[in-house]
Amino acid sequence: YMAKRTLANFMVYDAHQEENRKSQLSLLGELKTAIEQHQLVAFYQPKVNLQDGYINSVEALVRWQHPERGWVPPNQFIPFAEQTGKIRSLTLWMLRECMQQSLRWNAAGRQLRVSVNVSVSDMEDPGFVSLVECLLNETGANAQDLCLEITESAVMGEPERVMAALRRLRELGFKLSIDDFGTGYSSLAYLSRLPVNQLKIDRSFILRLHEAEGIQIARAIVQLGHILKLEVVAEGVESAEAWQTVSSLGCDSVQGYLVARPMPQAEFDAWFSACNGRWSLPA
Ligand code: C2E
Ligand code: MG
Ligand code: MG
Ligand code: MG
Repeated sequence: YMAKRTLANFMVYDAHQEENRKSQLSLLGELKTAIEQHQLVAFYQPKVNLQDGYINSVEALVRWQHPERGWVPPNQFIPFAEQTGKIRSLTLWMLRECMQQSLRWNAAGRQLRVSVNVSVSDMEDPGFVSLVECLLNETGANAQDLCLEITESAVMGEPERVMAALRRLRELGFKLSIDDFGTGYSSLAYLSRLPVNQLKIDRSFILRLHEAEGIQIARAIVQLGHILKLEVVAEGVESAEAWQTVSSLGCDSVQGYLVARPMPQAEFDAWFSACNGRWSLPA
């Protein structure tokens, strides 16, 4: 089993992990085929700016449309791809996809920044940044229109190497975000030196907003983010109550099922048009 200590100091225990192991391993053998046969699909989930209600960015989340298993969610193949060194091709596929989509949105007059999740093994891979630079040249996309989300545990993996990679990505123009904040082990000293733009409060804290202590922890994270001059995003917001709470705590933006679930691109475009690129709490 896997146990994970979090800032809030509770344990996550995944009892199904062993049972799933076998089926995940066989999936993994098919990942290369999945990319080649276009079975991977990018879904997009909007983020809403709490100041003005504008949707100015989306997070890209991979889905696998498997010929026999149907839609496979990322937690059933990403962790294994990471552990076996197979994540790089997936990350590069997703980046190319999102760069091309970003150009299409630009051409349609939509100002949407696209966030892509990057794994710890990508960040520790010495060839990764050069490959990303090649992709920028190949697609002609603007790095400013993309944001790379890196989990807090990833930035702590090999701090100096990751720090160097983050600096180079910033120099190329990418925005950088710390994902799942509060679930890793980062030292505050190190955190304050990271060349990042955004911090995403992990959903586990959003789930505790009905408790006084949960609110205080979220408030502390928002304050920390702002001290470090970072945009603070609340992820996993499912209720109007949680929206109102994070709004009152001074969060900058919100992402979650309350606003919309991750959607395939065509569905996202229709949804975005229908709401005119803005979202607010229903009265
Ligand atoms: P993440 O980057 O923290 O993404 C947020 C996850 O929370 C997504 O799950 C999203 O669908 C889900 N979510 C968003 N709003 C809500 C909500 O209101 N309630 C609930 N319960 N969930 C919400 P998803 O798509 O299953 O992805 C899970 C994780 O898999 C991601 O967590 C990310 O770590 C990883 N992942 C997804 N796509 C990629 C990818 O292309 N590359 C890499 N390296 N990792 C990916
Ligand atoms: Mg993310
Ligand atoms: Mg996250
Ligand atoms: Mg997460």
